[in-house]
Amino acid sequence: MKEIVYPEIGKVFYTKSNRAKAYKIKVSSKEVCVTIPALGTIKQAEKFVLSKKDWIIKTKIKVAEKIIYSFGLKKFNDKVSLNIIPQKEQNNLITYKVDNATEMTILFPQKFDINSDSSQEQIKKCLEKLLSFVAKHYLLDRTVNISSQLGLPINSVKISSAKTRWGSCSYRNDINLSKFLVLLPEHLIDYIIIHELCHTKHRNHGKDFHQLVDFHCAGKEKEFARELKRYRVF
Ligand SMILES: [Zn+2]
Repeated sequence: MKEIVYPEIGKVFYTKSNRAKAYKIKVSSKEVCVTIPALGTIKQAEKFVLSKKDWIIKTKIKVAEKIIYSFGLKKFNDKVSLNIIPQKEQNNLITYKVDNATEMTILFPQKFDINSDSSQEQIKKCLEKLLSFVAKHYLLDRTVNISSQLGLPINSVKISSAKTRWGSCSYRNDINLSKFLVLLPEHLIDYIIIHELCHTKHRNHGKDFHQLVDFHCAGKEKEFARELKRYRVF
């Protein structure tokens, strides 16, 4: 086995396998393992790894950020939290509720293995339903507040279940925000709201637009945009 460290990829372990028929890359959050086939060489393997560099970097981020839901309290930000409480009763029912508008609770039967794929999937589904309530409360208020603070009036705000985009602003100044936004840190929620509000003045992503966003984000637009890239919608 040979270990090589690359500036962008990090540690890569190369192992030769007589059974392998082709070069294979396995990515975990900490390291990358490469299998070299019997007739292969380290040199060829390195070439292969470097040709897949972008994919390896993307996959490493994805693996690192996969949320595993477990029992206990998880705070997404200062206001929004999820508490998963084990249920001792013998029934198979998963129940869920929202307290104080932003505190979500899921009662999960103890007899199920919470780490199994199907349990994780069920928790995710409950969370999606809970987020509809939380987002309506949190995002509508927040958008109306920031809109009046910045003097950028809007026509309406709606909450969507969009999974591919955080928000949008129509020509009639109707703002649409994804409910998954409430899982972000508060400054990034505000940043996205500000971004959409600034579209009421500039309909594109031109220089004037970014200047206005940056102004309302106290000069941190670039920093926030970079930080946001670490999050996927859901
Ligand atoms: Zn935009």
